[in-house]
Amino acid sequence: MDNTEKTLILIKPDAVKNSQIGKILEMYEKNNFNILAMKMIWMNEKLAAKHYEEHIGKEFYTRLVDFMTSGRLVAAVLQGEDIINRVRKLHGCTDPSKAEAGTIRQLFATDKTHNVVHASDCPETANKEIHIFFSEAEIFDN
Ligand code: GDP
Ligand code: MG
Repeated sequence: MDNTEKTLILIKPDAVKNSQIGKILEMYEKNNFNILAMKMIWMNEKLAAKHYEEHIGKEFYTRLVDFMTSGRLVAAVLQGEDIINRVRKLHGCTDPSKAEAGTIRQLFATDKTHNVVHASDCPETANKEIHIFFSEAEIFDN
């Protein structure tokens, strides 16, 4: 059993503006995802480029960065068994019109850009993304 796996989540500016922080955190807690670190930040273009490096140059990149830098967001580190896959399942498909019933994106997202939440997609990405937003001292890992 791997209880040590960690992932980075972001509650994006649309969800913060729509007062959905509490509802989203409640869904993590109801799923017994352990919250090890959390902060509110306002992304700038440089931070967005670091976090979304793999998408630089894609058709939607400018829209994505404009959105991600449009307001404050909440970043958190979650921990648990198979947490990377379980969080992505709870978030639902990137395109909310295709997201499964009961997922966070199906419940709260507007479109493919304004889709409420981010989650790391594999252990290597999780490790990179966690350390973009948090120092080791900010992660309460016992
Ligand atoms: P995720 O891992 O499900 O967040 O999806 P990706 O890593 O593929 O894309 C990162 C983010 O870029 C998504 O969450 C969306 O906000 C945005 N994005 C991805 N694909 C598209 C697209 O085709 N159109 C638009 N407008 N935004 C997209
Ligand atoms: Mg992704």
